[in-house]
Amino acid sequence: MISDAWETALAQFDQVSKRIPLSEDIHQVLRNFDRMLTVSIPIRMDNGFLRVFTGFRVQHNAARGPYKGGIRYHPELTLNNLKALAMEMTWKCSLVGVPFGGAKGGIICNPKTLSKGELERLTRRYTYAIMPIIGTEKDIPAPDVNTNEQVMAWIMDTYSINNGYYTPGIVTGKPVNIGGSLGRTHATGLGIAYTIAHAVKYKKMNLKNLKVIIQGYGNVGSAVGKFLNEMGCRVVAVSSSKGGIYNPRGLSHTALIKYYKENGSFDRFPNAEGMTNESLLELPCDVLVPAAMSNQITEENADKIRARLIVEGANGPTTVEADQRLAKRKIPVIPDILANAGGVVVSYFEWVQDAQRYFWSEREVNEKLKNILDCTYEEVHSLSQEKKLSMRTAAMTIAVKRVAAAISVRGLYP
Ligand code: NAD
Repeated sequence: MISDAWETALAQFDQVSKRIPLSEDIHQVLRNFDRMLTVSIPIRMDNGFLRVFTGFRVQHNAARGPYKGGIRYHPELTLNNLKALAMEMTWKCSLVGVPFGGAKGGIICNPKTLSKGELERLTRRYTYAIMPIIGTEKDIPAPDVNTNEQVMAWIMDTYSINNGYYTPGIVTGKPVNIGGSLGRTHATGLGIAYTIAHAVKYKKMNLKNLKVIIQGYGNVGSAVGKFLNEMGCRVVAVSSSKGGIYNPRGLSHTALIKYYKENGSFDRFPNAEGMTNESLLELPCDVLVPAAMSNQITEENADKIRARLIVEGANGPTTVEADQRLAKRKIPVIPDILANAGGVVVSYFEWVQDAQRYFWSEREVNEKLKNILDCTYEEVHSLSQEKKLSMRTAAMTIAVKRVAAAISVRGLYP
């Protein structure tokens, strides 16, 4: 059984390399990483004691452009998680045609137990520690689980001060008043909503009253909920790490956000049944959107899923074995590298706007985003129909081939 996110990512890559087939040389290059940096981050805590945290930045491959990928703060973060996520970023950027390679980074910490000052010192010292390998033309971080606009602003400020001048293009997902892009905060969620709308057309389902379940109502999940509410869908169940709630008649996005802000969980949300994250995944619905952590749909629960379609909001939420079982049961999965690519697409827009010091309207951002995601969806869908492949295999085939072609034409140095 494959339970580790890295093993899942590697197994998916190996399967696709065999299918293409990739040359053994390129297969070897892409199974490995360009660079993996581990750093110690000593911080003076508010109580006067010093504590040393561990941070990482993993760079997978930059054949198609500078490395790009989020920064995650999580107590259970491992190098293997980051390797999986960095490799997936290489495929995602390639699939949607943005000129970046893949990276991911983070710090082993529980931000919920840190004060704002501790979080700022941690972020600034981590930025300083990874400075030798990041840069606007080298590696551009972005938000991920437990990091946000504020964290990006600290990274940008620390880098700019050390660099000697204002360098907004060092991170994406920063506040708009210091060079962020309009539309970036909700881009991943909006992209997922566009993808659902696109996929539903092919499945002959109707957006109106479409029953949707969202596991993880954070940055990504809550934006999906907001846009789906606006499109007339019925979000029937949502969750946070503390558990979920279900109401088959539908949940209002505004009420959910207000309740979560006031209570810090969805526990006892009015007129809804409380449940665990595990049972939430097994409820009947039209579309299931896992938007929390990796490896949520596994060999153990894949046969209990009662959704008609799965759209991956999180990175790597479905294991290889679960994928096979879902395929047997004819439950299609729209893969993460397609479904949640909206974030990196608008990150790319932000990087372009920062380089030009010329900013676009939100409408322009959203239109360009929709155009890229719609074209990519069509490309993946046609390959999957033509060669009778799952959407994941089709998406991975397109993405890996593009990276392989870039490596091949650039050649080997020295
Ligand atoms: P977030 O921290 O804002 O939200 C995560 C949500 O999941 C929260 O509601 C949290 O309570 C919940 N959660 C945490 N652990 C859980 C568990 N074990 N079971 C169920 N719920 C749990 O993070 P986010 O930025 O929304 O990212 C969510 C996922 O989307 C991650 O897999 C991330 O890699 C992926 N992603 C994020 C972006 C982005 O732009 N933020 C882009 C692409 C992919």
